[in-house]
Amino acid sequence: MDQAKPDLFNSQAADAGMLGILQPQPGQLPELIQHWRGPRPLRVCSGGTTSRAAVDQGWTLDLREHFSQVHWDEADRTVLIEGGCRMGDVLAALLPYGRTIPAGLSGLPGVGYVLTGGMGPLSRQVGLAVDNLQEIQGIWGNGDSFLLKREQHLGSAEWRGLCGAAPFLAVVEKLRLTTQPLQALWIDQSSGRPEQLPDWMEEAEQFASGSSLQWHWQGSGTLQRMRISCTEEPVSQRIEGLHQLPPLAAKPDFPQRLHGEVLGLLGPAGVASWRTVLPQLSALMLRCPHPGCSLSCQQIGAATGRESVDVTSFVHRDAMWKPWITAVWPAGDEPARQRALAWLEELWGLLQPLCPGVHLAQLHDHLPFHQRELEQAFGTWLAGLRRLKADRDPDGNLPSL
Ligand SMILES: Cc1cc2nc3c(=O)[nH]c(=O)nc-3n(C[C@H](O)[C@H](O)[C@H](O)COP(=O)(O)OP(=O)(O)OC[C@H]3O[C@@H](n4cnc5c(N)ncnc54)[C@H](O)[C@@H]3O)c2cc1C
Repeated sequence: MDQAKPDLFNSQAADAGMLGILQPQPGQLPELIQHWRGPRPLRVCSGGTTSRAAVDQGWTLDLREHFSQVHWDEADRTVLIEGGCRMGDVLAALLPYGRTIPAGLSGLPGVGYVLTGGMGPLSRQVGLAVDNLQEIQGIWGNGDSFLLKREQHLGSAEWRGLCGAAPFLAVVEKLRLTTQPLQALWIDQSSGRPEQLPDWMEEAEQFASGSSLQWHWQGSGTLQRMRISCTEEPVSQRIEGLHQLPPLAAKPDFPQRLHGEVLGLLGPAGVASWRTVLPQLSALMLRCPHPGCSLSCQQIGAATGRESVDVTSFVHRDAMWKPWITAVWPAGDEPARQRALAWLEELWGLLQPLCPGVHLAQLHDHLPFHQRELEQAFGTWLAGLRRLKADRDPDGNLPSL
């Protein structure tokens, strides 16, 4: 056990008044969880990119120190990654073998990326990160160890729960993922005005599975667009793989330290509805409470829609668009925090008819809308997840469901 503050990417987590940090060796994890008598739930940290990687008056189980190995398996072309790896490190480790995985738009996220679904520019071709899982090893919240394999356990409640809702159920020590051949990508980036957004989306809804659109709408008013394609496109920049992906938008520089929350939504194709809602959306973006607030979106669909609804906890298989709302405020400014969260909820309300699902990539068990998020993330499967939670984590060592 260590009282030192961890170095966390997420500033809100980094500033939390945590009680301490646990950095166990692999063999110590089952006993630690089984005999945990400290404040619950334990927070688990892999990439440390979410606001709940560390919290006030809580302990953080930091896997980054002793669970950071990546092993390439030539025989079956899979990669075994430990529970505290960042996706960028996995991409880098696979480069010498000419292989890759469906990582997201940034190399910064850790294993939380995979466990919460994991959607990236290759997902329209090869599915979500959870669709590429072959093996999951770890410790249930009750301290029992497990090793589940796709070939044996696909179709079980346990496999389904871990593929998309693992943060509520278990501490994952290792994952085995299918890899794909490393392929060049073509990037087409431009900026535009809000009125252009529906046209961009309309065009993208016709894309073949090798292309995807992502866009970013900064509170200050500008929109950035990035098309990523697996085939050569005119006026595009070639990159050698996801490890060279440029950022969707430049990180704005603000004088104050910011805290924030991110909410991910999911909705089907349907640009007509986006067109209808655009005037209200533009008005809401104009009155965002801080210029660092934003609305961004990535395109999924194609292969992500081919997996059956009932084999993972990612139930929104009809989704083509994943918008995410980022609400920020100056650290420590409670009225500004309230305004930012109210704006986030208003924007969520506006987009709800278009995007009825939630992508639960960030936990918000400290916010009033946690229950609503759970219901919209898991739908009717939430009852099954709660049964699994009661069985595998009855004392609530991990976040509540
Ligand atoms: C810059 C950036 C870009 C992103 N781009 C994408 C994208 O393109 N596509 C996408 O789908 N998402 C994207 N995300 C969202 C990101 O994947 C999720 O927020 C994810 O949960 C972050 O995981 P983490 O391990 O970095 O964070 P952490 O804060 O360390 O963990 C996040 C959650 O996962 C749980 N967790 C982490 N590791 C384990 C483990 N080993 N066992 C059990 N539970 C664990 C934690 O309890 C926590 O609740 C992005 C996030 C950022 C910051």
